[in-house]
Amino acid sequence: MENIYDVMILGAGAAGLTAGIYTSRAKLRTLILNEGVIGGQMVLTNEIANYPGVETTSGYAVATIMKKQAKSFGCEIKSNIKIQTYRLHDEIKSVDLEDGRSFQARSVIVAPGGRPRPLNIPGEDEFKGKGVSYCATCDGEFFTGKDLVVVGGGNSALEEAVALTTYANKVTIVHQFDHFQAFRHAIEEVDKNPKIDFIMESELRGFFGDEKLKKVSIEHLPTGKISEMGIDGTFVFIGYIPGTEDFKGLIALNERKEIIVDADMKTDIPGVFAAGDCIVKRYRQVTTAVADGTIAALSAADYLRNVK
Ligand SMILES: Cc1cc2nc3c(=O)[nH]c(=O)nc-3n(C[C@H](O)[C@H](O)[C@H](O)COP(=O)(O)OP(=O)(O)OC[C@H]3O[C@@H](n4cnc5c(N)ncnc54)[C@H](O)[C@@H]3O)c2cc1C
Repeated sequence: MENIYDVMILGAGAAGLTAGIYTSRAKLRTLILNEGVIGGQMVLTNEIANYPGVETTSGYAVATIMKKQAKSFGCEIKSNIKIQTYRLHDEIKSVDLEDGRSFQARSVIVAPGGRPRPLNIPGEDEFKGKGVSYCATCDGEFFTGKDLVVVGGGNSALEEAVALTTYANKVTIVHQFDHFQAFRHAIEEVDKNPKIDFIMESELRGFFGDEKLKKVSIEHLPTGKISEMGIDGTFVFIGYIPGTEDFKGLIALNERKEIIVDADMKTDIPGVFAAGDCIVKRYRQVTTAVADGTIAALSAADYLRNVK
């Protein structure tokens, strides 16, 4: 039984690292397995200005400190791995990695995060963080006094467009249909906002610039006419992809592929918890991921006390 961890955490973003800090500090033998870069989405963020108690810093800096804190309490972290098989329903849970290694634990915290749905058009990757953004709360302030495009026509696109007018000079919403798929109050809010314009029945076709984004091309779908528009920034809100592909058929997900949890971050499998951007939730921030990770860790500790 020596090789069996108390807690195995899948994902080393804000949620997973926080869970690791709590469980290892509680003297639970903890292993974090992470498929990508340690820190997850935080390391994509040049500047984090809304993490309480920390003045403006980089996502990389926050991630580095979280990792150091977790390790200082004895948490083991293995990164850049790929998990091939999950056995989460057994009392002792286990995973097999592609490189042949296997790990076992009495409890698991699933924290694979996710990613905003991209447009998949030319220039999008090149200008990510240089004018193309997916998070108004995170990046809106950087565009104070600037002209922006918001892509999307659902509730989040309209709500975020209104939020962006706090900073922006002008916001143009580009939407593929001739109507918005949003609640009436959200539509009324954008309608009455003097800083917001609309380009309907249209889709973005490309991003252009040099060091920073300078313009976008837009196709008017009924006519096929393509026009160009000078712009300082574009915010894309066309949905979110939770990183739960591996857990389909294993853990209960909702129709948006988010992991269903209760208030204690328990999934439908005893001893398996979930935290962060992968769960059913509306607001995806470092603060909310950290909160989920804390709850999942404390719930896992409670579960282990009762089964031991
Ligand atoms: C560009 C950008 C800017 C942002 N700016 C801010 C900001 O300023 N302020 C703010 O509060 N929030 C910001 N956010 C949101 C914030 O970063 C996220 O909400 C938060 O970091 C999510 O943390 P997480 O741990 O749930 O997931 P993630 O950060 O996505 O981490 C999950 C980790 O798990 C790994 N993984 C995936 N699948 C598996 C698996 N099966 N097994 C093991 N590992 C796996 C991933 O590779 C990743 O490393 C921003 C997001 C983006 C994209």
